[in-house]
Amino acid sequence: MVRLLFGLLFPLLVFASSVETLKWSKGETYLMFLQRLGLPQSLYYDIDKEDQKLTEEVRTGVPYQVMRDANDTVEQVLIPVSEELQLHLYRNGTDFSLEAIPIIASSKRESVVLSIEHSPYYDILKATGSKQLAQAFVAGFKNSLNFRRDLRKGDRLAMVYEQKYRLGSPFSMPTLQVAMIELRGKRHMVYLNSDERYYDEKGRQVEGFLLARPVRNARISSGFTRRRYHPILKRYRAHLGIDYAAPRGTPIMAAGSGRIIFAGRTRGYGNLIKIRHSDGYVTLYAHQKSFRRGIRKGKYVKQGQIIGYVGTTGLSTGPHLHFGLYKNGRAINPARVVQVTTKKLTGKARKSFLKRKADLDDVLTEALEHPVAASRLETIDNACFIDPQSCRPLAPKENNETL
Ligand SMILES: [Zn+2]
Repeated sequence: MVRLLFGLLFPLLVFASSVETLKWSKGETYLMFLQRLGLPQSLYYDIDKEDQKLTEEVRTGVPYQVMRDANDTVEQVLIPVSEELQLHLYRNGTDFSLEAIPIIASSKRESVVLSIEHSPYYDILKATGSKQLAQAFVAGFKNSLNFRRDLRKGDRLAMVYEQKYRLGSPFSMPTLQVAMIELRGKRHMVYLNSDERYYDEKGRQVEGFLLARPVRNARISSGFTRRRYHPILKRYRAHLGIDYAAPRGTPIMAAGSGRIIFAGRTRGYGNLIKIRHSDGYVTLYAHQKSFRRGIRKGKYVKQGQIIGYVGTTGLSTGPHLHFGLYKNGRAINPARVVQVTTKKLTGKARKSFLKRKADLDDVLTEALEHPVAASRLETIDNACFIDPQSCRPLAPKENNETL
C-alpha cells in the first residue's frame, strides 16, 4: 500500500508542473495554512482526532513541498510533522484527503575535520553552515574544557555525524556521533551512547540536564512512539510524548529548570506550557486544567516547581498530562531520559558503552584519514510570511526553488 503510494508520488514529483519547497513560517497554524492555499477546512475538521493532533506538530522552519498542476492548482502537499511522519494532503477528484505517511529519508555519515582559526563554534559554522552542529560540539565539551584558556590556533578538531536527506535535501538536525578536540596535543572525546546521551571517554555524562517526573504517582497510560502502523485502522500513528493519567487538579511540576517559552491555549494540546532548558532541550506539558498563578511566558522556573494542574483541555479523552521532550526540536522519548539516575555509567551499561566507544573510535580514525565533506545546509529563502490577522501573505514569494 505504501509502496504503491510512493510509486504514484514520485512520477508526480517529476512531471508536476511545479514543486515548490517552502519553509513553514513562524506563527502560521495549520488552519491558516489551509486557508492561505485555498484548501478546504475539512482537511482539518473532517479528519480524525489523532491526525488533528499531528497537525500541531508542524514546526517553524520545516521545509514542506507544494505540488501544483499546469493550471497552478494545488495537487499535493507534503508536510513533515516528526522525524518519521509527514502529512500528505492530496486531491481526490474534486475533494481533498489527508493521511499520515512515513518520511522516506536516507541517512549519510559525514565528518568535519579542521584546524581552529577562530573558535570551534565559528569554524564549524563556517565549514558546515549548521548552527546545530556547532552547538552540539560546544555543548559536548563545555563542562570539562575551557576553550578560551586552553585553545591554541591550529589545534585540531573532528566530528562525525549523521545527516538525514529527504527528497534530496538535508532534512532535520544532524546527529553528532563522536567529537574530538586536541588541546596541546591531548585528545578529548565525546560519544553519543545508545541512550541518546553524550559521554566522555570514561563513561561520564557530559550534559548537565537531568529530568524529573512531571507528576507524582501517576500511571503511564500511553508511551512514546515515533511511528507505528495501526493494523486495524490501517493508518500511521505517532505519539510524541508520554501520557500520565492522573486525577483532575493533580499538580504538574517542571521536569527541569528553564524558561517558559509558551503558556497559553492551543486547539489540540489545550492549555499548554513549553519550557526551554539548557543544551537544546524543551519540555511540553499539555491538556492542563489551568496554570499556576504567575506562570507565564518568559518566567524562569526551577526543577520541581509547580506550573499547572492536570486536566483534559484540547483534544483529550480524559484527565491526563501529555508530556513531551524535544532536543534541538526533535521529539525524543522522555522515559529514556527520566530513567537516568546516575551520571556515570557502571556495570552492564558501561560495558555496552565501551563497545560502542571502540566502534566510534574507529569511525573517527577513518574520518581523520578520509573526511567525508559536510554538505552545507541550504537556506530556503522563499518562506512566505503571513499576517496572522488576515491569513494573507505579507510579501510575494520570490526565487521559488523547484526540486
Ligand atoms: Zn499524549
